[in-house]
Amino acid sequence: MVREILVSILLGMAATQLAIGGYAFTRRTHSPVALPFASLLLELALYAGGYAGELLSSSLSGMIAWSTVQYLGISFMPATWIILTARYLNFRWSTSRFFQITLIIAGAITLFGAVTDPLLGLKYASVAINSTGSFPVLSFTRGPLYWSHVVYSFLALGFSTVAFMWNFIAAPKFFRKQQFFMLFGSVIPWINYAIYLSGVNAYGVDTVPFGLFISMVCFAISIFGFKILDIAPVARGLVFESMSDGAIVLDMLDRIVDYNANAAAIFPALTADSLSKSAMQALSEHPEVCERVRSREYAEFQCSVGTGEGMRHYLCKLSPIEPRRNVPVGRLLLFKDNTDSTLLLEKLQELATIDPLTRAYNRRYFLDLIARQLSWHARGGHPLAIVILDIDHFKRINDHYGHLAGDEVLKAIAATIGAQLRSCDVVARFGGEEFICLLTQASGSDAFAVAERIRKAIRKTCTRIKDGQNVSVSVSLGVYALPAVTGAENVDEMIGRADAALYRAKRSGRNRTVAYIPEMDPKASEA
Ligand code: GH3
Ligand code: MG
Ligand code: MG
Repeated sequence: MVREILVSILLGMAATQLAIGGYAFTRRTHSPVALPFASLLLELALYAGGYAGELLSSSLSGMIAWSTVQYLGISFMPATWIILTARYLNFRWSTSRFFQITLIIAGAITLFGAVTDPLLGLKYASVAINSTGSFPVLSFTRGPLYWSHVVYSFLALGFSTVAFMWNFIAAPKFFRKQQFFMLFGSVIPWINYAIYLSGVNAYGVDTVPFGLFISMVCFAISIFGFKILDIAPVARGLVFESMSDGAIVLDMLDRIVDYNANAAAIFPALTADSLSKSAMQALSEHPEVCERVRSREYAEFQCSVGTGEGMRHYLCKLSPIEPRRNVPVGRLLLFKDNTDSTLLLEKLQELATIDPLTRAYNRRYFLDLIARQLSWHARGGHPLAIVILDIDHFKRINDHYGHLAGDEVLKAIAATIGAQLRSCDVVARFGGEEFICLLTQASGSDAFAVAERIRKAIRKTCTRIKDGQNVSVSVSLGVYALPAVTGAENVDEMIGRADAALYRAKRSGRNRTVAYIPEMDPKASEA
């Protein structure tokens, strides 16, 4: 009768553990605790079920066979217990492959001992049936592998108990109850082992599976009762919605699976109708984004949405979603608003390259540009020319009309020069009232013609200054042309030659253009 009651309790426990374990298994993607918990429950079910079988058998061979079934579970319990504890407490090393494999090998050694026991006798040194009680039970002398497993189990339990105890003490009040159930669950087996090993138990019955069942109930209360398996998706949902970036989740066929409120605010075309439709459709107005999605590669890029003042700039990131390493299930598109920094950068770039008074490029930009042009065209051997321009008697303008009027004249001259140049040519303010032009693909005669055009246009221009007076000035220009860029040119030397021609123009009466000839070589005159 006692035997029947014990067997039904054991089978009931095994079934309950299987059911809870099955449920935990279905939640395995929700929490890292779910899978070890499910495994532990399966192992305990094998233990309890196997023990029920052992109690029902009356032959020695039957009992030994059922004992082996129990060991299918028992062997791996310490390993699973450690992994569950480490995952629950979020120890970083808990996901290490090495750690998991080591634990599994330790379990496999015990299992090997159990399976080969009839041959090697590593687990039980001797086995017999004890029929002195009300029903026959297995009686045995313990072998080396039995004891090593006991030690391993104690180490695992010790680790788990200390870790949960430490965590219980350190846990904030809010988590205390939840932690208490884990701690209590890990203390029970100690009591049990003590009872079992001391042999103070009725009928020589193994009480460990019963104690472990209570432990599992405590664990289940802590894990399910406090929604550990549900909190992760909830948290994920909240994070997804409350993140400051726009986020769009794509499946492997580039269909939209999910998007957050920020993404919908950035792309008004993104609506509930877009779900399960191609991202290219919803984002068709943003070809730069579609192109990246289509290219199927990890990407970080910029995109701009809107026009004029309302234009927003985003730093975009397209990355694979890989719950398991190298097994992508979809992709995540993130949009981080970086309008402020983009505008600031544009402003800084402008400040670094543009002269604020005349809006022409500044000297530094010009020097960079000419250096780049020389290296680009080095192989092609293209012609290139520079024209340097200085206003005639500009001091007089300042003296006569004032500095502000002088500034107006400078602005007007920059605009006039710009109007005379092709779009591929540039003008920069080189000094106070000196400008310099870079003419690409221009021969000496082309450059001379452009310089003359500029000179005449400026001569014709009258600048209206503040009290309604008109001011007109003349300019002198020096031209230096390279028939073919070789890459060996020295920028300072080129500018020096254009300057020498300008000097000649000034000396010859101003309001004229002079092209450089070797006799003007500044080096020659220095010597
Ligand atoms: P020249 O024909 O020989 O060139 O005679 P110049 O009077 O123009 O002589 P120079 O080229 O040396 O003149 C430089 C003058 O340009 C001195 C300075 O007052 C004026 N200048 C330089 N930068 C500015 C500026 O930003 N604004 C104004 N209004 N005047 C400037
Ligand atoms: Mg000057
Ligand atoms: Mg001058």
